[in-house]
Amino acid sequence: MTSSSRDAALAHLERHFDDHLDALRALVRIGGVSAEPPPNPTLAKSAAAVVAQMQAAGLERCRVIEVPDAHPYAYGEWLGAPGAPTLLLYGHHDVQPVGRLDRWETPPFEPTPRADGRLYGRGAVDDKAGVMAHVAACAAWLRGPGALPVNVKLIVEGEEEIGSGHLEAFLQAHRELLQADCIVLTDTANLDEGVPALTVSLRGIVAVTVEVRAIERPLHSGMWGGPVPDATLGLCRALGALVDADGQVAAPLRAGVRPPDDAARARLEAIPFDEARFRADAGLLPGVELVGDASMPVYGRLWREPALSVVALEARPFKGSTNQIVESARARVSVRTVPDQDAAEVEAALVALLRENVPWGLELRVTPEASARWWSTVPDGPAFDAAARAMAAGYGREGFYIGCGGTIPFVEPFANAFGGVPALLTGVEDPRCAAHAENESLSVQDFQSAARTAVHLYAELATALDHRA
Ligand SMILES: [Zn+2]
Repeated sequence: MTSSSRDAALAHLERHFDDHLDALRALVRIGGVSAEPPPNPTLAKSAAAVVAQMQAAGLERCRVIEVPDAHPYAYGEWLGAPGAPTLLLYGHHDVQPVGRLDRWETPPFEPTPRADGRLYGRGAVDDKAGVMAHVAACAAWLRGPGALPVNVKLIVEGEEEIGSGHLEAFLQAHRELLQADCIVLTDTANLDEGVPALTVSLRGIVAVTVEVRAIERPLHSGMWGGPVPDATLGLCRALGALVDADGQVAAPLRAGVRPPDDAARARLEAIPFDEARFRADAGLLPGVELVGDASMPVYGRLWREPALSVVALEARPFKGSTNQIVESARARVSVRTVPDQDAAEVEAALVALLRENVPWGLELRVTPEASARWWSTVPDGPAFDAAARAMAAGYGREGFYIGCGGTIPFVEPFANAFGGVPALLTGVEDPRCAAHAENESLSVQDFQSAARTAVHLYAELATALDHRA
């Protein structure tokens, strides 16, 4: 590889960017909601369309890979650089359900550019842009100078949005096929529009359903209220004990939290934070306070501190409600966990706190749900340095190492299957992209920058990971 071949690849990308954007729009138009059970013709069509794009880019052995009871994968590779490092590139082609249709300003599966420089549509940013950034970068090398500087294996999953339930089995079954020196997972966020970032930590999740019962059947609140306790209030008292007066997660749920070390703290403090912007992006109402550990930067509270949410609460709906004491109330509670918390310990602490705090002898039942582990990596070494150079070149400014407050189930199976291999988590989401919500959108400029970054990344990793050097 010479610097002139990298220039040729970049020139090819610029010349054909509009074609890649059209291809992205065509993928958005197909849809592919993985919440609908397999086999599903839309997911099959979506996987086939990704395969066709891989083929057009010049990748080889492009095919749909079927996994029993799962939505299909798309796969393509190019192994024409013997002795050079091999990258495993990951994205997903399935999408979230559209949510409330009447909230969409333009139809979800009709990709629509707007004057704000963004392309609106379900899947535009999550994760079809992530997939197409790699397809475009591969095309730029293979159709421009004629060869990639590295070997690549691109896998595009079909069930990420429903928890990647078959990914572990898929990776185990295709272990030989998928051997690589570095994995590039392209489904996370930038710090902001135009501000690139690599994600180096994810929170985990522990969740339970809690149900409180007081009476066998609903009672007239006038004839029985007073001596007979109210299950909904009892549940609220128990839930209230899960946080302190400052809104910080109760101490027993914080067991095991590892404070960021000096290097991690320095990375956190290096990230510019604009509270007004943060409040606006979150849609916080005037006067509403930020909660959590005030000694920790806000990004630290998002990425390195546990968080607790009541994600569902049910007693009696307004419609049809009368003056009754209801017989039961239930809630679903989730805790986002961080290094080095143990999921089983957090779950036990959550159950114990609820038990200790449910009043008046009310009957309590807690049902745990599946948990997922946190993940973190230390961004040291040649692969991370290469990624930093690629981001700076692709976006025209230095990137940041950030965390992600969410939980991404696909990272753990990769870590298990390829332990020790560096994992680079990249992507084109940003704080205004509304991934998973109505009016999802992609910054078209960042899509272009991400494709440029991928062109640079392949070249940078080719040198940085070359064992022959
Ligand atoms: Zn995604």
